[in-house]
Amino acid sequence: MSAPVRIGASSFLNSRPLLYGLGRGPARERIHIEHTPPSECARRLSEGEIDVGLLPVAAIAQLGLYALPVGCVSSKGRVESVLLVGQTPIDTWKTVALDRSSRTSAILARLLLDARGKSDIRYEVRDPHEAAATATGDRGALLIGDAALELQGRFAYRYDLGEMWTTWTGFPMVFALWATREPVIDPVILADLQEAVEAGKGALSQIALAHAVEQGEADAEPYRRYLSDSLAFELGRKEREGLAEYLRRANAAGLLPPELHFASPMPNRAPQRAGIDAILSRAATGKRISVAEATRLLDEAPLAELGAAADERRSQLHPEGKVTYIVERNINYTNVCTTACRFCAFFRAPGREGGYTLSWDEIGDKLRALKSADGVQVLLQGGINPDLRLPYYEELVRFIKGHGLRLNGFSPEEIHCLAELEETSVEYILQRLMEAGLDSVPGGGAEVLVDRVRSKIARKKATSAEWLEVMRLAHRLGMRASATLMYGVGETSFERALHLSKLRDLQDETGGFTAFICWPYQDGGLKLRGDQQGAGEYLRMLAVSRLTLDNFENLQASWPTMGPTVGQAALHFGANDFGQVMFEENVVSAAGSVFSMDAAGIERHIRDAGFSPVRRDGLYGLLEAA
Ligand code: SF4
Repeated sequence: MSAPVRIGASSFLNSRPLLYGLGRGPARERIHIEHTPPSECARRLSEGEIDVGLLPVAAIAQLGLYALPVGCVSSKGRVESVLLVGQTPIDTWKTVALDRSSRTSAILARLLLDARGKSDIRYEVRDPHEAAATATGDRGALLIGDAALELQGRFAYRYDLGEMWTTWTGFPMVFALWATREPVIDPVILADLQEAVEAGKGALSQIALAHAVEQGEADAEPYRRYLSDSLAFELGRKEREGLAEYLRRANAAGLLPPELHFASPMPNRAPQRAGIDAILSRAATGKRISVAEATRLLDEAPLAELGAAADERRSQLHPEGKVTYIVERNINYTNVCTTACRFCAFFRAPGREGGYTLSWDEIGDKLRALKSADGVQVLLQGGINPDLRLPYYEELVRFIKGHGLRLNGFSPEEIHCLAELEETSVEYILQRLMEAGLDSVPGGGAEVLVDRVRSKIARKKATSAEWLEVMRLAHRLGMRASATLMYGVGETSFERALHLSKLRDLQDETGGFTAFICWPYQDGGLKLRGDQQGAGEYLRMLAVSRLTLDNFENLQASWPTMGPTVGQAALHFGANDFGQVMFEENVVSAAGSVFSMDAAGIERHIRDAGFSPVRRDGLYGLLEAA
């Protein structure tokens, strides 16, 4: 017998009618149910940890997954479990905390607030209980699912988004659908899911009763009314129309792709997909493409056409023909590291020969050399050295800032591990470093933000969620940061595209990234075998990054790893920045060749590529016309 299909869904009361029948009868033999929050469900489905997931509609559209044409969680009008709440009336709100566990409801809230003329409202993304706690004064919060049912009584003002949507459009609101990664679905599983809808609809009283018992409530009637009067589970004609209307309005607001693709039950009748040309022309004008479309560009688009589309997008964002660069210096203050990434030839395990931590004199010499070359910024990164504690880092930051230089320091990996070492929160570490003078955070250590890939690179590496959370917190505290991708470490094209979409999602949320840079894994005969990546592969990855990261302004050309000529070509494949003058580089160069150039060389290469070179500061502000 083949392995059961892994189905992921939240344990919210509103999902239970769709799951009820799957745990009974013959379907139980074919299906294994895993309870997961809706936002986690999207990640798990994308990364292949489950085969089918009950996902927010927005996540399906953004990730380019395939919806299944059976069952849904929708509201007929008033929904009770998707609410905007506050202690003051909605029209007084200046900030709204969005519950991070459903993108569909977060987008719905934005659409409805825009329609009320509240387009200047500020949004923050929070965990459910945190969102509720912030809803005081002129702040509102979005609550969904069981948290909404449980917490709504605490608020003086409650606005039901299902009711607001239906009043506004006349349609039901579809919140969640079954989805898969593939354009086809086993018809037997599809039939199981369809039959489960029928079984669930017939068992609403039992489901409500079971929920009441779990909650310690004596009366199940409110739960039964919620399931039968507020929600609907059949994906009928009206629900499909409501779904189309939601996507149309969200797309017009620049928040979602215009449509959903549905999987077909017949293996030999996959749905028609948009042509590569259509994807390229959409992306070239800054319209959002899905993860599946970005994957297709990586796999199928002709390189020249990809470059032309990325160049068109670059020239829309940077029409003046200027290419920026910065005079900054890498300082790798220690090479002692416990993370032991398999690709890294730079680090030494604690106590091993060759391990170092730079003295203040050595760092001071480097800073003076940088100042005398008109340098403006230090890029500070090092290993995860268990002997260095928070006071050392604060002193290091103050020492560098004392030389009058901007400081871009400590990758999310370093910050995350320091918080673990100090047994405190990442936010506290960031605050202390900021108070000492840290200006921004470099995006090192992202590699590929998919845990299957990260665990191959190093077992001890921070997870992709931890890396993103450090960035989220840094952005919230007001620090800007860069984002990176090191590809060619055994990931699939889909995983590269997924990495880009995770960065894009966080940028939507915070706007805190200044730039993106990608480069290939340098195979210096080390333990991790990745594909050797050529110039064509690099230019393809860069161009797809420019087209997928529609909310990033700046993309750097990675000439130190690819060479100056490929760096020049990169300026025609989406890059608008030529990186930094190279004083030294220790991490990547330890595993492979790294090119080096001074400011005159950089300017000559930019001019020869047909652009005007301009020096910039660490926040991409122009310093002077070179
Ligand atoms: S890449 Fe960084 S975290 Fe990984 S082993 Fe090298 S120094 Fe340590």
